[in-house]
Amino acid sequence: RAVVAEKVVESVCPFCGVGCQTEISVKDNRIIKVDGRDGPANRNRLCVKGRFGFDYVLSPERLTRPLVRREDAPKRADASMTFADIPSVFREATWEEALERAAKGFTRILETRGSPALCGFGSAKGTNEEAYLFQKLIRQGFGTNNVDHCTRLCHASSVAALIEGVGSGAVSAPFTAVEDADCIIIIGARPAQNHPVAATFFKAAAKRGAKLIVMDPRRQGLMRYATHPVVFTPGRDVALLNAMLNVIITEDLVDRQYVQANVDGYEALAAKVMEFTPEAMAEVCGVPAETIRDIARAYATAERSIIFWGMGISQHVHGTDNSRALIALSLITGQVGRDGTGLHPLRGQNNVQGASDAGLIPMLYPDYKSVEDPDVRAHYEDAWGRALDPVTGLTVVEIMDAVEAGRINGMYVMGENPAMSDPDQNHARSALARLDHLVVQDIFLTETAWFADVILPASAQAEKWGTTTNTNRQVQMNRAAIAPPGEARQDWELIVALANGIGLDWRYGGVDEVYAEMASHMHSLDNITWERIDREHAVTYPSAGPDLPGADIIFREAFPTPTGRARLVPTDLVPPDEMPDADYPLVLTTGRLLEHWHTGAMTRRSAALDAQEPEAIVAMHPRDIGEGGLTPGQKVRVETRRGAITLTLRADRDVTPGMIFIPFCFNEAAANFLTNPKLDPFGKIPEFKYCAARLGPA
Ligand code: SF4
Repeated sequence: RAVVAEKVVESVCPFCGVGCQTEISVKDNRIIKVDGRDGPANRNRLCVKGRFGFDYVLSPERLTRPLVRREDAPKRADASMTFADIPSVFREATWEEALERAAKGFTRILETRGSPALCGFGSAKGTNEEAYLFQKLIRQGFGTNNVDHCTRLCHASSVAALIEGVGSGAVSAPFTAVEDADCIIIIGARPAQNHPVAATFFKAAAKRGAKLIVMDPRRQGLMRYATHPVVFTPGRDVALLNAMLNVIITEDLVDRQYVQANVDGYEALAAKVMEFTPEAMAEVCGVPAETIRDIARAYATAERSIIFWGMGISQHVHGTDNSRALIALSLITGQVGRDGTGLHPLRGQNNVQGASDAGLIPMLYPDYKSVEDPDVRAHYEDAWGRALDPVTGLTVVEIMDAVEAGRINGMYVMGENPAMSDPDQNHARSALARLDHLVVQDIFLTETAWFADVILPASAQAEKWGTTTNTNRQVQMNRAAIAPPGEARQDWELIVALANGIGLDWRYGGVDEVYAEMASHMHSLDNITWERIDREHAVTYPSAGPDLPGADIIFREAFPTPTGRARLVPTDLVPPDEMPDADYPLVLTTGRLLEHWHTGAMTRRSAALDAQEPEAIVAMHPRDIGEGGLTPGQKVRVETRRGAITLTLRADRDVTPGMIFIPFCFNEAAANFLTNPKLDPFGKIPEFKYCAARLGPA
């Protein structure tokens, strides 16, 4: 018999950056089902994660009381540690004891080692208000800009290129703009897995007759809908994109009027790409010259073309160059600033856009204002009443290096899981074990929490109010549907408690007051009040007036740069940091599965989702499996220069021969033990998408 809900709460899906609006049906403080709402990004649709992945909030593994580490417990995290090990590592504490111990640890380091010895990792899974408060605590309370979050592992290189080129790190158009587009490029992204509701819009556009160009080193289901499915050599994006630029320039498909009116740097770009002929680059990128010509012409000559990209573009040592080349494609053809055109890096986490906007990054205050700009710093020094760090802080991977080197001793982690998400896990976990003081605030005992000195049980998205900003720049209202379990508390309240514990005097009557303070510092949120978001459920920024809809398409008149003009930046061929060789002959790439979200902390505790993808796998082309004398389903050992894991071999024709693919969500065989921490020099993002590996029977 169907269970009848006591109430239905209108909220937003907690998983990906699409930001589908949901209706959460509740009975007896339990979620009984989730349906889609008519939100601007989903129009009643949900994917398998949004519809069935809600039971993690009811998991018996939820943290319900504060925990503190026993003095004699070793700091380690491995797949053998389970919930049953908690009593030997931690003991329960009162909130008073846990918060006092958390705050005292930071104060002690502050007094003995100073601000540079502290850092914090916030979360793209939290709300905008939590992100704002977290970076404020680190900057005002810890006195350092050593604050970052998983955007560093996601689209940091895209944002670096966008700010440099067009003056804004956000998308120029929502993904629903494909309804007006004649040609769509999707490169280095797998929307059917990672942004499934967005993928439904791409498929509909192709069915309507738009040209769909899907480019990726692995085949994917969306290629079945593509007019131009293009599989290219991994790590050779710039060769392919510069060859497209070469075609557009040599065949005079440039929108010269647009370039003259809006773009600087054309001559240098044109001169640079002359050497990147389709014939020369076909060898490098593995795409026939005539195909390169076809897709370049299709993109440049369509009335309205739009580009989407994902982490296949950003997670390389040349990730910023990849984005620069995509930006150049749009600028020299005038395919930006109009309906059906634009640049859209598909955001991963549900609030990576909002967390970045709110300043949860080491080089920028809210609204992407440089921490090294004296006028900006003076504004925050005035608002926060203390001198602030004038130097850009360390990024995620740099922080782990500084911990290992003994320069950072204290860390506050809210809702992130670096013991799964950072590259080169042996290094990252060794760094976490070296910390003198680690406070982890989360809903589960994550792999990172096993290293903590104090663990603060927090709230899942369905248990709290707050705003989040999706990949389309739509600021949406999350509403609490159920109460948190046991003594778990709201994240924003915990940040405030810690701030006051280290001597600040923060007073907020509610999370709406936090939003109001944050918005007072951010012109992007002008005319977008808490009350308006609650009333309208979603408001796109920027919005020109309190009653005017937000701007879906930006850059219509000018770019938000000092000159109002965009800037082209030529790029060169930079090879992946670690090429295959005789010892490690395969290319390893990592990513996500449809059913699991990032490090799996939530979806692996969702019964319906984990049942569909229950074990750690490595995917390999059947030809390579056969030639290696291997059998699908057998246990294999995958090894790189940094580590080794054992998992189940899966035959997958989407994976190009010579490559292997491992999802990074499985803690029993964490892919990031294998990955290369080498950084893109501009975005400081590690090269998760390419390293040399070998595979053999376990
Ligand atoms: Fe949630 Fe993304 Fe799926 Fe929408 S597409 S239901 S936001 S995971």
